[in-house]
Amino acid sequence: MKNFRLFVYWIAPATFFLFLNSCQVKDQEPSENVRETHEQLNGTLWMQTSIEYDVTCVQAYEIAKVFMLRGLEDRTWTAAIEQKGSYEDLPPAVILDLDETVLDNSAFQARLAKQGIEYNPDLWSKWVQESQAGLISGAKEFIQLAQEREVRVFFVTNREFVNEDYTLRNLETVLNMSVDPEQILNKNELADWGSDKTSRRAFLSENFRILLLIGDDFNDFVCLGELPPGQRTIEGAQYKPYWGSKWIQLPNPLYGNWERAIYRYDNKLSDAEKLKLKYETLDTRLLSTEGKQK
Ligand SMILES: [Mg+2]
Repeated sequence: MKNFRLFVYWIAPATFFLFLNSCQVKDQEPSENVRETHEQLNGTLWMQTSIEYDVTCVQAYEIAKVFMLRGLEDRTWTAAIEQKGSYEDLPPAVILDLDETVLDNSAFQARLAKQGIEYNPDLWSKWVQESQAGLISGAKEFIQLAQEREVRVFFVTNREFVNEDYTLRNLETVLNMSVDPEQILNKNELADWGSDKTSRRAFLSENFRILLLIGDDFNDFVCLGELPPGQRTIEGAQYKPYWGSKWIQLPNPLYGNWERAIYRYDNKLSDAEKLKLKYETLDTRLLSTEGKQK
């Protein structure tokens, strides 16, 4: 009897109170200040809607035209640090990356943002096989000028060799010109052609004088290895004389080695773990007034 009273007067009301309380906590989530969003949202919209993005790309290619012509006149000029020996009389060439340099994949990124999902290689491969990437502003005019001046154009890309036909079809559509498969140097096309593009630059440098390198990732110019973000900036600064003349950088706010550096190049981390590292990397302190290169 005593136990029954204990249950009726104390345990049952307490349990009911705890149950009510847990419902209230649930009802309060998420807090009013937390928005549902996707980390690619702003970057994708910047690429797809802003005049600022277009101008930045055209600007890069206009600078590339000026320096391609300058390099053409100066036989000692080379943009590839892999270029060795006597290259002065080799025929001239330029090396361009493809994704976010010539081909615009923002529609793929828009799909990820709309569906609230993260990138994965299978989704990417299916996208490549659609051959639906757009054209980055300024790229076509630059390539036309190179061809008019008999400068050979090569595309060194980390797209997979197995998808070369799809890439070729996409390129021919956006450039409205025929492209020779020999112009595209894919990842894994030869045994030593990994994601580090050094061996492909060295391969081309044997037969051509490289006037320019054009890309959206520092790996398109030189391999820095897997350095942390701050160290990438310090190491990359060594090549400052190349910036904006021999090496032409396109903007890419969506992905690249800058992002991989933040999550320590560990592709196996979960989305939540990658996001956690990104938030931890955000710097809320007052930044240097002398710029990041000082
Ligand atoms: Mg790229």
